Amino acid sequence: MQMEITCPHCGTLFSTEQVNDSQWPCPACRQPVRGQASAQSGTLPRCRVCGNDEMYVQKDFPHRLGLTILVLAFALSCVFYYWHWIVWTWAVLIGSVVADAVLYWLVGNMTVCYRCQTRYRGFPPNPAHGPFDLATAEKYRQERLRRQAIQHPAP
Ligand SMILES: [Zn+2]
Ligand SMILES: [Zn+2]
Repeated sequence: MQMEITCPHCGTLFSTEQVNDSQWPCPACRQPVRGQASAQSGTLPRCRVCGNDEMYVQKDFPHRLGLTILVLAFALSCVFYYWHWIVWTWAVLIGSVVADAVLYWLVGNMTVCYRCQTRYRGFPPNPAHGPFDLATAEKYRQERLRRQAIQHPAP
């Protein structure tokens, strides 16, 4: 099991396997990130960092890798097209789409907290957590903006 925490002090994203700890030191600013939920055995009823129980499940898809495949395939297909290798042009384009689909199918899920964006990998699935919901995410985004406005009032 693994967690990826966005440090509330400096914004650095860091990962830890000490998922049952009650606080995690940020490697960048050295300040501890304190967990708001007491230690829970194995399951994930609420976010261990902020205690929030609204989380969503999404594919742990490496977007950068997916994009790299598509960009490379496009560049290669342009070369083949220039050489009039039409069959190869199509083969590369279709192959890249298939490769992305296979990649998507292979990767596992991760659970993400709407409020603090902590990512959880390798936890047993919780049926209370559904797919990403835009309205819920917007609610938390507004909350974050309000909190920032309080912490850093406009001059
Ligand atoms: Zn930090
Ligand atoms: Zn959270």
